[in-house]
Amino acid sequence: MRETPVISLKPKKEESVLRFHPWIFSGAIRSMEDGIKEGDLVSLRDSGGNFLAWGHYQVGSIAVRILSFKEEECIDRAFWQQKIQTAYRLREALGLIRPGANNCYRLIHGEGDGLPGMVVDVYDKTAVMQAHSVGMHQVRQLLAEVLADSLPGLKNIYYKSETTLPYYAPVEAEDGYLIGGNTDSEALENGLRFRVDWLHGQKTGFFIDQRENRSLLEHYAGGRVVLNMFCYTGGFSVYALRGGARLVHSVDSSAKAVELTKQNVAANFPADDLRHAAFAEDAFRYFKDNGQAYDLIVLDPPAFAKHRSALHNALKGYQRLNARAFEQILPGGLLFTFSCSQAVSKEQFRLAVFSAAAESGRKIRILHQLTQGPDHPINIYHPEGEYLKGLVLAVE
Ligand code: SAH
Repeated sequence: MRETPVISLKPKKEESVLRFHPWIFSGAIRSMEDGIKEGDLVSLRDSGGNFLAWGHYQVGSIAVRILSFKEEECIDRAFWQQKIQTAYRLREALGLIRPGANNCYRLIHGEGDGLPGMVVDVYDKTAVMQAHSVGMHQVRQLLAEVLADSLPGLKNIYYKSETTLPYYAPVEAEDGYLIGGNTDSEALENGLRFRVDWLHGQKTGFFIDQRENRSLLEHYAGGRVVLNMFCYTGGFSVYALRGGARLVHSVDSSAKAVELTKQNVAANFPADDLRHAAFAEDAFRYFKDNGQAYDLIVLDPPAFAKHRSALHNALKGYQRLNARAFEQILPGGLLFTFSCSQAVSKEQFRLAVFSAAAESGRKIRILHQLTQGPDHPINIYHPEGEYLKGLVLAVE
């Protein structure tokens, strides 16, 4: 068997590795052994030839994603097993695995679980795997086997990476089942039922990262008229209804998402369809055409900035959107406003909302500062992992 090939860094470029940051940017590389292919496991060395880490090599700005900083560690089946089992135990400790009440959670959150380039979401008996690196793509079958061995009751593993692998990568990633093939898809979140369409839905099919924020909204929803803007499959709407909202309007530009929202509301509140209405419409159009005032508004738009280059327009977008919400919120109302753009910092997002608030001239206070749920842990050495930002504002 061939030795693990070596990538050497330029002098001083090992500093981030010594602080356990899991990425090496391409500009830090001095030399690469001949024959290294995208997705290969590599041994990372400093300019003096000392071992630094094991990682997956990738063509692009993030050139190496680090898997281990220990020279004696072997990146083999036992390694993957240990990572997956540690991740599972954390979700158990978080109380997310509760038969009959909660069977939907993120099991692997990339860097946050020591597995950069891999995401795994669990929906009852099905795990959905999403690779963001060629290295993870290449070990997908092994990871699927380890997952099946490690998670009690797991029957299906769906691999969904056609759109998440770099488009120029020399691999043909096909979405499909690695294990099983049952599309039966009801997940339970805090006792609420959700149909999850991992085949056609966005991401892995559901936005698990908002679970705690949905619970918070449930807590405040009693007696309120709620607008869930960018509702997707209706997560916030269903929690609002359980929280005793007087009326909930769900809006999303995707007709399919609106259909799923209606199904999820019906599954949880079968005899209660007067309290909910869903509209397939563009957000700005809806705000323009619909004069209704609300006493609770949720704004959970898609990532406005996928890359830094789009930052300026994204911030303007957040400002405009929040300004519309301030126009339609009643005194005493609450605004739950989010950004899931990794390229937008907490401060930048707050500034955009602040500008919208100033435009409205109203008295506005921050009640809560929100982020992703604890099954999306942030590796403390990888602050980039904190992508979801939210504010709950009291509007007078
Ligand atoms: N809040 C949701 C997740 C929202 S994802 C949850 O808890 O599950 C973002 C959603 O915004 C997607 O469903 C997408 O279809 C929708 N969307 C994108 N652009 C939009 C627009 N211009 N107007 C309305 N909805 C839009």
